[in-house]
Amino acid sequence: MSRETAENSSVRTEEEWRSRLSPEEFRIAREGGTEPEFTGRYWDHRGDGVYTCVCCGEQLFDSRDKFDSRTGWPNYRAPLSEENVRTQTNVSRGVRQVEARCSRCGAHLGHVFEDGPAPTGLRYCINSASLNFAERE
Ligand SMILES: [Zn+2]
Repeated sequence: MSRETAENSSVRTEEEWRSRLSPEEFRIAREGGTEPEFTGRYWDHRGDGVYTCVCCGEQLFDSRDKFDSRTGWPNYRAPLSEENVRTQTNVSRGVRQVEARCSRCGAHLGHVFEDGPAPTGLRYCINSASLNFAERE
């Protein structure tokens, strides 16, 4: 079990995360899982506001960047801020994937693909279970 380097107070132990999250949220956000398509709370969600990290509350995506990709997961053309979402490239069984994580607490969010709409050409394919939503004030 690898452990994230403690960067600040938003980094908690595995047991703390387990007690704060639902089993599904824990499996996805802390263990890098993926929710089945068309089952999450946000793939078809159309609110006006900001999607935040289910673990630490960091602001991750703006609803203005959300688009309907018909994939069954919420998709965004860009993060709210490049600083809030970090990406890392993983190679597993010969397949290269770009993983998106919360910069603050390291939560697994989803993956980034290069088949998104202009102008970024990127598609942040994110698990609903890694997100909360806050209406714009
Ligand atoms: Zn977070």
